[in-house]
Amino acid sequence: MSVVIDGIKDRTGLEKKLSINSYAVDSTRAHIRIIDHAVCLQCERQQCINCCPAACYAPQPDGTVLFSYEGCVECGTCRIVCHEFENIEWTYPNGGFGIQYRFG
Ligand code: SF4
Repeated sequence: MSVVIDGIKDRTGLEKKLSINSYAVDSTRAHIRIIDHAVCLQCERQQCINCCPAACYAPQPDGTVLFSYEGCVECGTCRIVCHEFENIEWTYPNGGFGIQYRFG
């Protein structure tokens, strides 16, 4: 896998690999959420956007960040890179939900 610090180098290759996995999405509960979207406006680097391997974070024209939990691979990266503002509430999905890896 070709990953660089400031973003994913080979997005297409990564998405091909991710598409092999399957997901049991819990439509009643997002296991991760941005606590306060206004706080993201104070965050200069917004590393959640660059570092999430599943591209769950997307920049918005108003400077906020849109989060979608459905494709999350539960790696925990976003929780770590948001250490300055601690603006991400992170839990695992409930039992029976979440990613099911196909490569071990
Ligand atoms: Fe993305 Fe990993 Fe955070 Fe899930 S846990 S949203 S895959 S960085």
